[in-house]
Amino acid sequence: MKLLRHGPAGQEKPGLMAPDGTIRDLSAEIADIGAEALSPQGLARLAAIDPATLPEVSAGTRIGCPVANVGKFIAIGLNFSDHAAESNLPVPAEPVVFTKAISCIQGPNDDVMIPKGSVKTDWEVELGVVIGSVARNVPEDEALAHIAGYVLIHDVSEREFQIERGGTWDKGKGCDTFGPIGPFILTSDEADEAKSLGMWLDVNGVRKQTGTTDTMIFNCAHIVSYLSRFMTLMPGDVITTGTPPGVGMGKKPQEFLKAGDVVELGIDKLGTQRQRVVSYESVYG
Ligand code: ZN
Repeated sequence: MKLLRHGPAGQEKPGLMAPDGTIRDLSAEIADIGAEALSPQGLARLAAIDPATLPEVSAGTRIGCPVANVGKFIAIGLNFSDHAAESNLPVPAEPVVFTKAISCIQGPNDDVMIPKGSVKTDWEVELGVVIGSVARNVPEDEALAHIAGYVLIHDVSEREFQIERGGTWDKGKGCDTFGPIGPFILTSDEADEAKSLGMWLDVNGVRKQTGTTDTMIFNCAHIVSYLSRFMTLMPGDVITTGTPPGVGMGKKPQEFLKAGDVVELGIDKLGTQRQRVVSYESVYG
């Protein structure tokens, strides 16, 4: 299944993308795509519904983040050796973990806003994992059972805030609009552990990032197991698992986003995103 949320920001309704590509409304079936719907029981119930019997949502309707009420938005850094190299940072012995503020979460095609004073806003296409059941000290061979599905994520990053201002990376990762998620969650039963999926990102139609989920240093099962030793993962938590090479910081000379740019990204099977880049001043004056 491809689960999603449709409608204006803050008023999204649950839905799914039918096999024919149409969006269907699930409002009569479930309250939202949250912890209950994402549980193994909730997913089984939704899978029993024939999408053709659900009301069709008009094409062009805004798509929101496909997970309601995300509790935690955890990220893994430097999870591709060639990205670590372009960042001039060593390949980590254990996963690098940071958090993205949940207030940065938005729909896959909403505008990305350059933060006030930013000069180094950068792009990162990533594979996301959506948790479906409570995971606490889970062994690696049981971790996949806790994943409800997989999703496309843009881990927008401000490099000066992240790297040059001291402390952890979080200052450059949780700015407003820095967390486009979606368009849909591909449920685990159809995702084959997200293996061998091509990843790409374009800025203004020019290819910047190319990768595959096969070259991740730590795979999804390892990441879920590892994180569950340090924090209890809850249904509806989202983990973004790191970016392949080709970020702006790693270009020679370096490249960063500016107002007016258009970013497009995608992962095989997980759909695409498209964001217009806008200035802080154009939004808040
Ligand atoms: Zn990232």
